[in-house]
Amino acid sequence: MESIQTEKRTCHSCGNPLRGRVDKKFCNDYCRNNYNNEQKSRNRYSPVIRNINNALLKNRRILATVLTDRMETARANRDKLLRLGFHFGYQTHVYTTKTGRSYYYCYDYGYLALENDWYLIVKKKEE
Ligand SMILES: [Zn+2]
Repeated sequence: MESIQTEKRTCHSCGNPLRGRVDKKFCNDYCRNNYNNEQKSRNRYSPVIRNINNALLKNRRILATVLTDRMETARANRDKLLRLGFHFGYQTHVYTTKTGRSYYYCYDYGYLALENDWYLIVKKKEE
């Protein structure tokens, strides 16, 4: 019995209809490379690492909304930061001053714990 290909085949990359060989998956080398590159970048990090990166980037975004471009420093209390979705468990690095105060950074934005659950938000200056 002859097997008949009834399924309409489309390019895995651009979705255009395919003609020619049955095992063909892409229109051309361009689409094949495109597809392979996309797969590579999608799988570069495990889900655990992606989640951590997302949490760090979100923290940075939140600090950036509190400390806008025109300000040198800003203050926010813990409730406000939590309400915005801030995760205190995620930082990229810690800077401790000579007097023993620790600034916790998410990339270029950092915060210093003040009294009564207030925080001083700072941004690392561009060098
Ligand atoms: Zn294509």
